[in-house]
Amino acid sequence: MDMKRVSFHTMGCKLNYTETVTLRQQFTDAGYNVVDFRDESDVVLINTCSVTSKADAEARKHVRQALRRSPHAYVVVVGCSAQLRAEELASIEGVDLVLGTREKFRLMEYIDADLRKNGPHIHVGEVDDVEEFGPAAAADPGDRTRSFLKVQDGCDYSCSFCTIPMARGGSRSESIERTLEHARGILAQGFREIVLSGVNVGDYGSGTDESLYDLLIAMHELDGDFRMRISSIEPNLLTDDIIRLTAESDRMCNHFHIPLQSGSDGVLRVMRRRYNTRRFRERIDTLLDAVPDCGIGIDVIVGSPGETEERFEEAYRFLVDIPFEYLHVFTYSERPGTDALDLPEQVAPEDRTRRGRMLRTLSQKKRRAFYQSQLGRTLDVLLEKPDDDGMISGFTGNYVRVAVPYAPGLDNQLLPVRLDRIEKGVVQGTLVGEAAERAAYVTLPVVGR
Ligand code: SF4
Repeated sequence: MDMKRVSFHTMGCKLNYTETVTLRQQFTDAGYNVVDFRDESDVVLINTCSVTSKADAEARKHVRQALRRSPHAYVVVVGCSAQLRAEELASIEGVDLVLGTREKFRLMEYIDADLRKNGPHIHVGEVDDVEEFGPAAAADPGDRTRSFLKVQDGCDYSCSFCTIPMARGGSRSESIERTLEHARGILAQGFREIVLSGVNVGDYGSGTDESLYDLLIAMHELDGDFRMRISSIEPNLLTDDIIRLTAESDRMCNHFHIPLQSGSDGVLRVMRRRYNTRRFRERIDTLLDAVPDCGIGIDVIVGSPGETEERFEEAYRFLVDIPFEYLHVFTYSERPGTDALDLPEQVAPEDRTRRGRMLRTLSQKKRRAFYQSQLGRTLDVLLEKPDDDGMISGFTGNYVRVAVPYAPGLDNQLLPVRLDRIEKGVVQGTLVGEAAERAAYVTLPVVGR
């Protein structure tokens, strides 16, 4: 009998990707064959994001695209958009099942075993007191380089622009003991990097007697040749302990992704963020004093309510002075149910676009400057997969993308590379030491007699 085919499309954050892997495992355990999202399949699962109105529109677009390719497919929609806008998604012709935050990890209980298209069925509960965590998951099949490990979910903060607490519920975490079990499983599969993921990872363990620092210490006890990264951490939760540990550890990546959202105190107050620019700057300075070559990524939102031209200029100047590596720039969009929706001083769409462009340009300049500052150094690079140009690339601990000429055996290896020059936004490097000799040996031309 032919196996049923299932395909997946994931939108949004790393956590969604992590959760898709878990959902994929449920399908494979049930005997499904996973196919590419661009191929025809019997079941299509779309894991949506709701961070911006664009994300909601994208979710609808992906549902329609999937139905064009597989008009008879049984379509399942999960994720933040499904939790917040279930009716809207279910109203798209062809959608069969919409599952909320609590329900998605029990999807095999909800899916029609014969894939009969007699829906749409919506199963979306309240998330106010949600305790479900959902299993921690790993990486895409076929990728044995970097694995995301979900350690935390939900958020207890109440930023005025954010829908995540409404979509995912309050902050909750996996215990250290269970997290270590998952991590051992990941390492046994040969992964070389673990990325600790969550909505508000720094809040790990809140309400328990465990903390993110405790988890990081415990992760150092694990056997294996691997490094670890924190997907993102709020500035107020980046503690001195974590910074000190990063400075002393050869397992922690010297890279932090830190949401700032705005470099204007006026805007931060409107956003109800839990720090001001002085505190943010102090955290960055403390971090760079302890870990001078740390790669710092920063999230910013442009065009949120209250961001007058003066405040944007103030924010821009603040960012120019920060020695960061890159920005992730989001353009504010109105989200139903958020307090920001009703605030005065909304920003015109064209100003949002212009400000976004300015910050993306700043990000490019800063990234280039950071890459430039690393040239000449020899750093460990976790090489991933070969590309079509005969190169293989990967990231340093401080998040510089580096490419070297490909040779068999380099995949998924953490190897020392000298950083030589920048080409098309990627640092070109040279393998050094033993790794270089081995690579030279396997790429020697075969000379005929
Ligand atoms: S910290 Fe703020 S922006 Fe981040 S998930 Fe929580 S409420 Fe949303």
